[in-house]
Amino acid sequence: MVDCHVCGGEAIADAFVEGVKVPLCRDCLRYGARPEYYSRETAKRFSAPAPERKRERKPIVTRRVVDGYAKTISEARKARGWTRLQLAKKSGVAESEITAFEDERLHPDLKSAEKLEHALKIRLLKEIEEEPHFSLASRETSGEGVSLGDLVDFKKP
Ligand SMILES: [Zn+2]
Repeated sequence: MVDCHVCGGEAIADAFVEGVKVPLCRDCLRYGARPEYYSRETAKRFSAPAPERKRERKPIVTRRVVDGYAKTISEARKARGWTRLQLAKKSGVAESEITAFEDERLHPDLKSAEKLEHALKIRLLKEIEEEPHFSLASRETSGEGVSLGDLVDFKKP
């Protein structure tokens, strides 16, 4: 039996917490991960000895907006000598949105990020491979920022 790195309880899986692989118990895994990581499916997987693993486990590639997008956008815009209004016209993204992105008040959605990438010739999106089991379909559309859950990476079986 392996002890949980955090509370000393019974560890059920290894997880990467801020880049360090540590054994964690169910509670601490749940605590560290966002709810969508810990779906009913996941809980079942931890308790069932050998879930059918016949299905293809192709990694799911999702795209996310890079950290520091606010600075990237505003610096690229200024380097071109454009006002926010000019960038809005060239990119098709509303000026109010651009302002909010640059102030880091709003996380760009994928569509806007693509438009800004195109207009400014910058990279705002990065591709991330997810384990199918932890498919975060909501992430693609929600455009949330980084949370503690992003730092937890379950070990592949
Ligand atoms: Zn624990």
